[in-house]
Amino acid sequence: MTFQPFSAPDYLPRPILAEMQLSRLRTIVSRAWERVPLFRSRLEERGLAPQHIDSLAAISRLPFTVKTDLRDTYPFGLFASPMEEIVRLHASSGTTGKPIVVAYTQEDVDVWTSVMVRSFAVCGLHKGDIIQNAYGYGLFTGGLGAHYGGEGLGATVIPISGGNTDRQIMVMKDFGVTAICCTPSYFLHLVERAAQLDVDLRELPLRAGVFGAEPWTSSMRKRIESLAGITAFDIYGLSEIIGPGVAIECPCQDGLHIFEDHFYPEIVHPETGEVLPDGEEGELVLTTLSKFAMPMIRYRTRDITALIPGQCACGRSLRRMRRIGRRSDDMLIIRGVNVFPSQVEAALLEVEGTLPHYQIILTRAHGLDQMEVQVEVTPETFSDKIGALEALNESIADALEHVLGLHVQVTLVEPHTIQRSEGKAKRVIDRRSQS
Ligand SMILES: [Zn+2]
Repeated sequence: MTFQPFSAPDYLPRPILAEMQLSRLRTIVSRAWERVPLFRSRLEERGLAPQHIDSLAAISRLPFTVKTDLRDTYPFGLFASPMEEIVRLHASSGTTGKPIVVAYTQEDVDVWTSVMVRSFAVCGLHKGDIIQNAYGYGLFTGGLGAHYGGEGLGATVIPISGGNTDRQIMVMKDFGVTAICCTPSYFLHLVERAAQLDVDLRELPLRAGVFGAEPWTSSMRKRIESLAGITAFDIYGLSEIIGPGVAIECPCQDGLHIFEDHFYPEIVHPETGEVLPDGEEGELVLTTLSKFAMPMIRYRTRDITALIPGQCACGRSLRRMRRIGRRSDDMLIIRGVNVFPSQVEAALLEVEGTLPHYQIILTRAHGLDQMEVQVEVTPETFSDKIGALEALNESIADALEHVLGLHVQVTLVEPHTIQRSEGKAKRVIDRRSQS
């Protein structure tokens, strides 16, 4: 692969990177102190001022920022730039009430583009590639983030946005698409629909998928790669920090490199907030080192991961984090047991004859939580005799009980019964408050 100059920061010697991080951190802390009242008052409560940040380690003295801070200061309370310097607003739809709003100056948009360019380059994409961008365009950061990144790389971007699966497949085939961006669950849906239309993706020029915006498992990756004949890369980001482009997997597929020159990572204990050493699992906390319009200092992502010690075989000096398997927000408590949808997915993918389309339905009967897992099975399994289905049902229930430590009801459904999403898959339907 030819070396691309914009990838140079990926290989910075660690001492130089650390120096750059500290200098940027001091600038951003001073900026937030001067311009964001909530941040200033929290620092004052702790008897802190920007000059106390004299080392990178001192970051752990700073207060956390949490999602409710964004809601409580809706819409513009955390902005550190006047509106006339802000060139873009995005918003993420919260599950409850008001969305959270994020802002960018032109410099922020340029940084965002640069980390997306670097992300695509890490995936081996370059000028000449044709990128089908099936992330939603709009207030969601996915669409425009990938769009400007692709253009910045010099690739051809097709801004098809989400939805209209048949048209996606037609474009992919007729335009000679070499890479696609979307959620992994939507891509899987696309693969299945392509098969129904007699299009074999393995025969197309498509060679890479840049998938993000929802947690997905390694088994799901294997399934995607073998069905479509591509390499599937995990991309990570969140609107509160910048959008997609915070971290990306390299071809080693052994963790995601964090663009540490712009985003400073820490792992903390989800309950105590104590900083954990590399290798230990906890909640990812990120600080934006170069975001002017809306600096995020020690933002608690709710994503559970660990920083991977040691250097990656690809030679990049950027630290890596493990793929996000779960978010602390996703945790369900069923009869006192902690359950994550990703555990269900991992268990299902191990059982022959199932499809990675499932839904968890929670109800309450006689005061007790009931969990039902609906799973699509392959058409071949469905055409088999009744005995085979019963056996499959039993092996799924066993696999789930083994992983979750909980007996759950399993319902096998025909292929394409569970509603497909064009964005993030809806895995859980919680009807407990209605019963
Ligand atoms: Zn690497």
